[in-house]
Amino acid sequence: MENINKIFYTDKLETHALSGFDFEIHKGDYVSISGPSGCGKSTLLSILGLLDSPTNGKFILNNFDVSNLSVAQRAKIRNREIGFIFQDFNLIGDLTVFQNVELPLTFRNMPKEEREANVIACLAKVGMDKRADHLPSQLSGGQQQRVAVARALVGKPSILLADEPTGNLDSKNGDAVMQLLEELNQEGVTICIVTHDSRYADYAKRIVKLFDGKIVGDLAESNIELYPDKTLENV
Ligand code: ADP
Ligand code: MG
Repeated sequence: MENINKIFYTDKLETHALSGFDFEIHKGDYVSISGPSGCGKSTLLSILGLLDSPTNGKFILNNFDVSNLSVAQRAKIRNREIGFIFQDFNLIGDLTVFQNVELPLTFRNMPKEEREANVIACLAKVGMDKRADHLPSQLSGGQQQRVAVARALVGKPSILLADEPTGNLDSKNGDAVMQLLEELNQEGVTICIVTHDSRYADYAKRIVKLFDGKIVGDLAESNIELYPDKTLENV
């Protein structure tokens, strides 16, 4: 991302959710984003995930300029490149676990056998293959989030984005989901997660702090400060 701005206009207010935002995520990274409520975390993730577009600025995803795409173009690229995990799981209630995970693949021309093999492999990876025929309402929150992780992974996305994925989970299930994300990253999955919980932010290899739509801290695992001129004070 280069000099990205996102401005929301409402009747009385002009909100600068992201201001002059420069940001780069590399393949294999595990980045956590944190900062106070309203600082622009969800806005950033929506733009990264092609759910929304910036007001202006440049966004390159996998060497492809996605700054100014139509809604239809964004949806097509999103289906191939992005895996999204939400705080409230967002599974479809009248589809089984299997069907929920299969859904992103039904928008592609993938043969049925290949689709099924991918779904089963992803459910096994998150430890939910035994429950393929269950409905979401028959699962605990932690299990539902594991299914949501499988759905996000099944299309082999370039990046996995998660907005407060543990926000609706108790600490035991939250820990299990974070453990799963860590394992996935060790297998090469690129991850960017928004979290309020500093304990969970520390799972990441790189910790980014936002304040008022700007990056005010960016620490790599090695504790080398990437932007030493910016301060973490007031965050
Ligand atoms: P965070 O996720 O860090 O809590 P958000 O990215 O949701 O913050 O919001 C950043 C700022 O943009 C906030 O001031 C919020 O009120 C504003 N905002 C977000 N979405 C909209 C919208 N659709 N319309 C108007 N203002 C918005
Ligand atoms: Mg948010």
